[in-house]
Amino acid sequence: MGANTGPLDHVVVIGASLAGLRACETLRTDGFAGRITLVGAEDEVPYDRPPLSKKLLAGEWDGDRIRLRKPEAFDELGLELRLGVRATGLDTERRTIALADGGEVPYDGVVIATGAAPRRLPGQPALDGICELRTLADALDLRSRLGEATRVTVIGAGFIGLEVAATARQAGCLVTVLEGAPSPLIRGLGVELGAAVASVHARHDVDLRCGVQVSAIEGVDGRVAGVRLGDGTLIGSDVVVVGIGVSPATDWLADSGLELRDGIVCDDTLWTGVPGVYAAGDCARWHNHVFDPHDDAVMRVEHWTNAAEQGAVAARNLLAVAAGSAPTPYESVPFFWSDQFESRIQFVGRAHGDDEVHVFAGSTDGSFAALYGWQGRLRGVLGVSMPKMVMPFRALLAAQASWDEALEKAAALTS
Ligand SMILES: Cc1cc2nc3c(=O)[nH]c(=O)nc-3n(C[C@H](O)[C@H](O)[C@H](O)COP(=O)(O)OP(=O)(O)OC[C@H]3O[C@@H](n4cnc5c(N)ncnc54)[C@H](O)[C@@H]3O)c2cc1C
Repeated sequence: MGANTGPLDHVVVIGASLAGLRACETLRTDGFAGRITLVGAEDEVPYDRPPLSKKLLAGEWDGDRIRLRKPEAFDELGLELRLGVRATGLDTERRTIALADGGEVPYDGVVIATGAAPRRLPGQPALDGICELRTLADALDLRSRLGEATRVTVIGAGFIGLEVAATARQAGCLVTVLEGAPSPLIRGLGVELGAAVASVHARHDVDLRCGVQVSAIEGVDGRVAGVRLGDGTLIGSDVVVVGIGVSPATDWLADSGLELRDGIVCDDTLWTGVPGVYAAGDCARWHNHVFDPHDDAVMRVEHWTNAAEQGAVAARNLLAVAAGSAPTPYESVPFFWSDQFESRIQFVGRAHGDDEVHVFAGSTDGSFAALYGWQGRLRGVLGVSMPKMVMPFRALLAAQASWDEALEKAAALTS
């Protein structure tokens, strides 16, 4: 685990967002007094992404409100900030990072936290009015367009697509959501409860169509005009938001020798297998012992809590190994939330399409809570506007509780 790095005088953190910031802060709180360089492709100091599809998109918050730290905090941390420049390569022999501006940064240790980038449709045209949502710049652009748009089409009924749909609808737009799978939120919640959670959209007159095929996004004079479906229907649109998921931002590592497989492959301590190089957040795939012995224990997670925790753990393990101490495995039960209209959705654990589900509180046409189980074991817990029913299960999930233990806990919580 984590071969020795040699003297650690200069740590470079690539990716100036949540995981990267937490890595820098942890280096300092754990006593690292050497140089820290934080490299980020965006011009922005680290900011929070969840509000991009919620309060910031709705115009209730501005860009300053979502900064993760005040400007002076970066001086206090003693960071050398290299913002607005992308890392283009990692040379693990020479221990250097190449930058898009032609510069090169030497390192003794690295934390890679480059996150993820939106996927695009095959052959997606370049038309004004086609939007994606990952960055503050994307959100501000989409926000200004929603102010003028009448008809908004969202391609993809995942969490971010449905949050955008809710915000656009609340802004007064006519909203259509197109999903190829038979049910919304299928990847996160499975068929049955994905549909139940997304039913809030029908109650707010969002036209949510599942099992449809998008054949093209069409435009007139360089501007988007609509989305053509496989059956020939044209959904007229002023704005089209492509929300079909993200891919880990690892292209720049193609020649690095790091193992890349839908993310940077790490061991259980977030070590990449290359001396001094760790990864954290949306770009990292690691072995999470909480889910042993099943084969889904090697995972990549795209949630806020995971990125924050992993940034800290990767930095701590880099320091530990450099000091000749044992690194600590990152073992965690994934958690995320999503806000759509009046629903606050929370999920702890993992869900698969073939899980057994059991609604133990409320009713699926409003607020409810449900257990997800597999092979006699609890695997996840969902709450829709039932915050007190979700987190009590986190410890049970960490302890690999049985389905029967979970049913007992559910009964106790609802009695
Ligand atoms: C609109 C939206 C809403 C969300 N809502 C929720 C929510 O409600 N709940 C929840 O749990 N999670 C939510 N998430 C997910 C959460 O924000 C992410 O899991 C988290 O931001 C991941 O942090 P990260 O630091 O790993 O990566 P990111 O936040 O993606 O940051 C990576 C940074 O690295 C930079 N970068 C990429 N490549 C390079 C390079 N080659 N060189 C230098 N810099 C590079 C990027 O520009 C970016 O700034 C949401 C995400 C989005 C986009």
